[in-house]
Amino acid sequence: MKKAKYIIRKAKIVVKKSCRNIGNSHRLARVILAFAGVMMLVAVGVLIFYKPARHFVVVPPESHTVIDIKSGDTLSKILHEHGFSGQDINGIANALKTEAKFTTLHAGRDKIDFVRPAEGLPISKIIIMDGPWNRVEVNCGTTGAWNCQKIEIERDTRLTYREGEIKDGDSFYVAGSRAGIPAGVLADVYDLLAFEMDFERDVRAGQKFFVLYEENFASEKKVDNGRVMAVSFQALRGNVQMYRFVKNDGNVGYYDENGNGAIKSLKRTPINNAKITSSFSGRRKHPVLGFTRAHKGVDFRASTGTPIPAAGAGRVVARSFNRGHGNFVKIRHNGTYETLYAHMSKFAKGVNVGTNVKQGQTIGYVGSTGLSTGPHLHYEIIKNGQHVNPMTVKLPAINNLDSKDKPAFMEYKARIDSIVSSLKDNPNQIVRL
Ligand SMILES: [Zn+2]
Repeated sequence: MKKAKYIIRKAKIVVKKSCRNIGNSHRLARVILAFAGVMMLVAVGVLIFYKPARHFVVVPPESHTVIDIKSGDTLSKILHEHGFSGQDINGIANALKTEAKFTTLHAGRDKIDFVRPAEGLPISKIIIMDGPWNRVEVNCGTTGAWNCQKIEIERDTRLTYREGEIKDGDSFYVAGSRAGIPAGVLADVYDLLAFEMDFERDVRAGQKFFVLYEENFASEKKVDNGRVMAVSFQALRGNVQMYRFVKNDGNVGYYDENGNGAIKSLKRTPINNAKITSSFSGRRKHPVLGFTRAHKGVDFRASTGTPIPAAGAGRVVARSFNRGHGNFVKIRHNGTYETLYAHMSKFAKGVNVGTNVKQGQTIGYVGSTGLSTGPHLHYEIIKNGQHVNPMTVKLPAINNLDSKDKPAFMEYKARIDSIVSSLKDNPNQIVRL
């Protein structure tokens, strides 16, 4: 008890002491305020009579104005709208052409960033964002002349694996989308498989497929998808497998698991994802004429205006109209093969008799001209002057691997196979080739 009382008394003393301190600090504050007042007078004096050296000025942040290129925009029009003189516009255009080989802006894709050293100052730098991977910087030099330089954006390419299965009633497109394959990649896969598959009759529930493709990153951010590196589909005729491979001479191709060229000289289905409405047959009842007559080609349903790509490279030997075919184009691919495309609504610009066309180049557009009950593509393959079934004819590969490339391909294929099985087990890992 005695001890406790003593502690309380001691505490009271402490409280009294601290109060006295507060009184002292009021006096101290008055002193500080007086001192601060004097200091302020000194500071004002310094501000009035002392001009600081330039390099002491704080640099304000750059100001950016980014504009999207719309159709009808030209560089000179945009520069004019941003207050550039005719002389500057010429200087900038010349610098771009000679120093960066840059000539045209692409509407809907390109952007321009106008940079000012600070808000309200004249534009000192123009950054042209020419697609996701190209940058050209145009700078106003100290002499007032414009100069430019290309800026490389570092591309980090990673491999992505997606697998799927055809369910009852699925098209390959539906199953591929469900598997998470982006539409652009799926279109490339279609282009590849169209050499080997008939999407109408080769697709059944239970079939499995996978795609290995590139995804491009810049600064850890996904920018776009790259190329299809491998694809596999369990078709009715057997597993279709393709690998993208760069040959010794730098040429690129797709090859099957044995190193045979997967890209055929002709495509069985020129229009991707188009349903077959009538197959090749020796005899069939003609839907318009009513009597039985051979169907010398395959009909693909497609809406009017759908572009028709050339099934293979060759020379246009007919671009004409007749009662049965309506508007049609015939291409001679080599001494053996010809293809014919009928019922077109119109021909593609620049496609005439004698024109050399590339595989996949648009030669015309789907329509219903001639003897036709609705818009579709009638497609024929003629081998040595005889009509053959486009879906079953054996087609030659464009290029095969020679004895030099074959061992390199087999080694590469083993590497791709191991990447596929590793990504299959753990799809989230980062894999680069
Ligand atoms: Zn037909």
